[in-house]
Amino acid sequence: MNRRQLLTTAACLPFLSVPAHSQTPAFKRVRPGEPGWPSEAKWQELNKAVGGQLTAVRSPLEACKGADVATCDAIFKQFKNPYFIRDNVALTQTTGWAEAWTSSPSAYAIDARNAADVAAAVNFARENKLRLVVRGGGHSYQGTSNAPDALLIRTRPMDSIEMHDAFVAKGCSDAPQPAVSLGSGNIWLKAYAAVTKAGRYVQGGGCCTVGVAGLIQSGGFGSFSKNFGMAAASLLEAEVVTADGEIRIANNCTNRDLFWALKGGGGGSFGVVTRVTLKTHTLPNFLGGVFGAIKANSDGAFKRLIAEFMRFYRSTLFNPTWGEQVRFQPDNLLELKMVFQGIDQATAQATWKPFLDWVAAAQVDYAVVAPVQALAAPAHFFWDAAFLKQNLPSVIRQDDRPGAPDDAVFWAGNLGEAGWYIHNYESVWLSQNLLSDEKRDGLAEAIFAASRHRAFDFHFNKGLAGAPAEAIVAGLDCAIHPAACDAFALAITAAGGAPAFAGFAGHEPDAARARRDATAVSACLAELVKVAPEAPAYVSESSYFQKNWQAAYWGSNYGRLRVVKQKYDPDGLFFVHNGVGSDDWSHDGFTRL
Ligand SMILES: Cc1cc2nc3c(=O)[nH]c(=O)nc-3n(C[C@H](O)[C@H](O)[C@H](O)COP(=O)(O)OP(=O)(O)OC[C@H]3O[C@@H](n4cnc5c(N)ncnc54)[C@H](O)[C@@H]3O)c2cc1C
Repeated sequence: MNRRQLLTTAACLPFLSVPAHSQTPAFKRVRPGEPGWPSEAKWQELNKAVGGQLTAVRSPLEACKGADVATCDAIFKQFKNPYFIRDNVALTQTTGWAEAWTSSPSAYAIDARNAADVAAAVNFARENKLRLVVRGGGHSYQGTSNAPDALLIRTRPMDSIEMHDAFVAKGCSDAPQPAVSLGSGNIWLKAYAAVTKAGRYVQGGGCCTVGVAGLIQSGGFGSFSKNFGMAAASLLEAEVVTADGEIRIANNCTNRDLFWALKGGGGGSFGVVTRVTLKTHTLPNFLGGVFGAIKANSDGAFKRLIAEFMRFYRSTLFNPTWGEQVRFQPDNLLELKMVFQGIDQATAQATWKPFLDWVAAAQVDYAVVAPVQALAAPAHFFWDAAFLKQNLPSVIRQDDRPGAPDDAVFWAGNLGEAGWYIHNYESVWLSQNLLSDEKRDGLAEAIFAASRHRAFDFHFNKGLAGAPAEAIVAGLDCAIHPAACDAFALAITAAGGAPAFAGFAGHEPDAARARRDATAVSACLAELVKVAPEAPAYVSESSYFQKNWQAAYWGSNYGRLRVVKQKYDPDGLFFVHNGVGSDDWSHDGFTRL
């Protein structure tokens, strides 16, 4: 029992009072320069134990200090390249969040090659009372994979990929099934490319450069989750190093509680995942997308367009075939960025005909500013960098550094978020009952009202309503908020600026704009919350300042997650902002309350 729990318990017993002078001092972690910070000799011992993989971390921004404008601009330009960021141990994919956090180098970092390196780092941090932080792909919006004055474990070198024809989780006697084992340093592009090349499909995330273990511990949704379910729901087994330094296997038969918590309980809270094994699925014949944009010439016409689109979505697209997004904009634009699986291009185009006919019949009200077109390819080409470069060059960007591998690509649609400085980011899951005939008009009105404040997106693939029954059952066996399985979409509204760090002329955060944007984002989401009052949100895509985050992220699962946390990490070695058990700690994770 920790001090906070002890005091809470004591306060409940009327005959027991705890005099202030008898309280033990709060547990504190040490920072560089403080008594107890490991000596140079101790760090060198650790370096030896991890085969020379320890580094003292230096930010590339140090080269900017006192340098000319061009040198500094060139460094900041690189922050728009997710692969540059990935390669730099001092950086994260987000440079910061106004009035919330700033991406900061840790004191030391270990590029772990295997679970033994991770165990050495975990033991060192625990024994020396260090703040420990774990980084995979570095995509946390909430800054949970960086911490100053900390020891960082980076999983990057653990990038093995192994296909299995007949996998059985350790200690289980289930029927063997096709699967893939991924070292936790992998990013999803590599996983998709390898697995689809082998003729199978694995469910991961939408963004190419997101880390595999960070996404799975979020729950994780990819473009085709409406058919294949949550990424976490495909997890068959994980290798994980817990706070006691043990290398454990977690699956449905061994450490079952830990296994469940890893499936959506949030990254960086239960241990360091070193390998995941995921079930693979039958690869569809075709994968494709439908893109276009329709502009209404009046508010009234936009309201009708929204209502008609939502009716069309409910009748035709609310099923396992369709995923990804539409955007509603203040200038009365409806942007379509949808994907489909399992049907060919002609069928996809025909699917949209009734909606496009409706738009064409009211052409005085609408302009099709980008033709609504379906594109499809055999599924194994969807993450094939060479194919994309040749056939769809506008949808991808390449790591532009000299000598970069040809397959280091990312979706052009994610460029805005590379290195961005967040002004605000909010999300809410929208229940499928909002699509019913009784509720849909109210939803359409809320969409219009929200769009007056700011553009926002419905991510249809990030809610499992409409998915096959087995995907929903498997989703409900994950630690994520159960609302994800009843939602037809996750609504996301966000705003940010160019990569920014205070103190660097020309690249300072724009505080005034950030405040304006933050207000608009909140006002936009508030309109949607009027029709979704419980406001559950997605742990990995939500506000840093999320109110009642325990209930918003995990709902009825939070109590069970706390029990797992207490069992595997009773002293809170693993701390992340708004993570399970973080309510016991100061905001920076250095002082136990
Ligand atoms: C551009 C962009 C696009 C995104 N698209 C999607 C999407 O399509 N679908 C979706 O569901 N989410 C999406 N996300 C959210 C993303 O899935 C989460 O932020 C995820 O946690 C990122 O994982 P990471 O390893 O890349 O990030 P990191 O910042 O490295 O890690 C995220 C959290 O997980 C922890 N963690 C990472 N690796 C490990 C490990 N091996 N063991 C234990 N803890 C670990 C970290 O400590 C941190 O707390 C997106 C985010 C961004 C920035």
